[in-house]
Amino acid sequence: SNPSTLSQLLETAHFAALAHGQQRRKSPSQPAYIQHPLHVASLLAAPESSLHPHPPVEILQAAILHDTVEDTDVTEEDLRRVFGPVVTRIVLECSDDKALSKEARKQAQIDSAPHKSDEAKHVKLADKLSNLRDLMSSEGRPSGWSVKRIQEYFVWSKRVTDSCIHVNPGIGAQLDEIYRQGTFEV
Ligand code: NDP
Ligand code: ZN
Repeated sequence: SNPSTLSQLLETAHFAALAHGQQRRKSPSQPAYIQHPLHVASLLAAPESSLHPHPPVEILQAAILHDTVEDTDVTEEDLRRVFGPVVTRIVLECSDDKALSKEARKQAQIDSAPHKSDEAKHVKLADKLSNLRDLMSSEGRPSGWSVKRIQEYFVWSKRVTDSCIHVNPGIGAQLDEIYRQGTFEV
């Protein structure tokens, strides 16, 4: 990759790390929140991803930024100014409408997924893969989740990713493996 691409990615990681600040993931060891968006981007760049070996930098940037508008003080205008229209549009496509109830947001993700751009579908797939990987292990998942709640998350996640999987068969295969075995450490 050329030097300006690497520079853009590092600038994006720095921006997202500052934005997420002291936020933590919900698992017992409470890792820094930025761990998750970086994992999502790394899943899209990895050899198993169908974007390999030339993942578009805007998709990786959107992956790194995918939870900023939803979960931090960062606004659409901030993103547009710093990262431009393409990255901003992908991040917004991946952001829930916080005016909706949690239940309505879950349904909206299912209903809107088929209509998203291919770029946003890549990010959605890797986002779900990252969260499912966390949920599969007792150290990765939020403490106190019942087996029923984990299973419901798997079922919902599959409903979202079914309409996106065609854009990235490499990530799709990893999701299928998780959905097929359907087992997790308790
Ligand atoms: P979610 O079920 O949406 O929580 C999962 C989300 O938390 C993930 O999508 C992820 O989102 C984020 N997250 C943070 N840390 C982790 C981690 N370690 N592992 C996995 N995901 C992580 O929770 P809500 O609190 O929003 O709950 C709302 C919904 O949960 C309700 O609408 C209901 O459907 C369901 N529910 C079910 C219960 C049950 O017992 N069956 C009980 C309570 C709620 P991101 O990528 O954005 O960080
Ligand atoms: Zn996420």
